[in-house]
Amino acid sequence: MSAVRKHIVLVCLEAAEPSDAVSLALQELGLGTQPSPRWRRFGSQLLAAWPEQASTDQLAKVRSVPGVRRVIHLENDARLHTRWPLGGSSALALATGTVGGPEPLVIAGPCTLEDEDQLMETAAVVAEAGAKALRCGVFKPRTSPYTFGGLGERGLELLARARERTGLPVVTETLDYEQMELATQSVDVIQIGSRNMHNSALLFRVGAHPRGLPVLLKRGFGATVDEFLHAAEYVLLGRIAAHQDHPGLILCERGIRTFEQTTRFTLDFGALAALRQRTHLPVIVDPSHAAGAHDLVPPLARAALAAGADGLLVEVHPEPQRAWCDGAQGLDFDTFRALMDQVAELRGGSSAAR
Ligand code: PEP
Ligand code: MN
Repeated sequence: MSAVRKHIVLVCLEAAEPSDAVSLALQELGLGTQPSPRWRRFGSQLLAAWPEQASTDQLAKVRSVPGVRRVIHLENDARLHTRWPLGGSSALALATGTVGGPEPLVIAGPCTLEDEDQLMETAAVVAEAGAKALRCGVFKPRTSPYTFGGLGERGLELLARARERTGLPVVTETLDYEQMELATQSVDVIQIGSRNMHNSALLFRVGAHPRGLPVLLKRGFGATVDEFLHAAEYVLLGRIAAHQDHPGLILCERGIRTFEQTTRFTLDFGALAALRQRTHLPVIVDPSHAAGAHDLVPPLARAALAAGADGLLVEVHPEPQRAWCDGAQGLDFDTFRALMDQVAELRGGSSAAR
C-alpha cells in the first residue's frame, strides 16, 4: 500500500459526460470537473476521486444526482482488492470447478500451441488426470523477436475445439486488447502475463470488457507485491466501470528475478503468504516458469499448495524436450499424472476420488 493514506470515492455515471448536476455534486466534494490531481477518469463512465473530506451527507448528495448510477466509498486504506464493495465471494466459478473454493484447482497444458495433435493429446491427458482447466498460449510474449511467437488467431479455433472435446475451460494469454476481443469467443479466461502486468491501460480495458471474461493476472517478474496489487486494482476498476458485480480475477505468483540462477525465477512464497492476507482475490502459483526445470516443478507445486495457494498453473507437453517454447520446464504426461496424485493426497482425498 502506498505511504499516502487516502480514501477513495468511485462515481459511476449513466452517460459518458457528467451532467451539470454531476459536476455540481463533484464540487460538493471539493472536486471540479477540470483536470485535477484529486480525481481521475477511467473510461467514459467512471470517476475515481480522493477528496480531503467525504462526509455521509456529501456522498448522499452525490448519490442522489440524476446521472449518477453508483457511488462507492473506499474508506481509509480500503481498495477494491482489499474489500470488494459489491459483496459476495471472489472465488471464481468455472464450468468444472472453483478457483478460490475449498479445493485447489489445477490449470494445465502446453506453454504454446504447436499443432492439433499436440493440443488434443495434452488436453485429454490433463483432463483425465484431474486438471479443471486447460492452459495454452497462441499469442506468445517472447523475449527475443526471433523465436516462435505462437499460432495467433488460427490457434483460437483449435482452443475452442479442445474445450468442446474435453469440457475443460480454456485459459490463454493475450498481449493487447485486440487479441483479447478475438479470443473472447474461444476461451474462458484471459491471461495477462508477467510482461504486461505494468500496462495499466490494458489492465483497465480488459477488466472493463463488456462480457466480463475472467482474468488471470500474473505478477511481473520485477514487480513488488504492492505493484502487483495495484495492477489488480486497475482490472477491478474496469469491472466497476463495466457494471460487473463479480471481480472475476485470479492472481498468479510465478516467480521474480533475483540474483539466484539455479531456478529460472525465484518463487516468492512470502508474496504468496502476504497476498493471501491482503486480498480477497484467489491466488494461484505457477511453479513451471518459476522453476524453469521440469524436475523442480513438482516440489515447488507441492510447497505452493502447502503454503495456501488456491491452485496451480502447470506446463505439460507430450514431448517436452521437443517443445517449441519452454521445453525445459514442461512436464511429460507421466510426471504430470504423478503430480496430480500428490495434489490429491495433499488435499486429503484419494486419486480415485478426483
Ligand atoms: C506463460 O504462462 O506462458 C507465460 C508466458 O508466463 P509469464 O507471463 O509468467 O512469463
Ligand atoms: Mn511458458
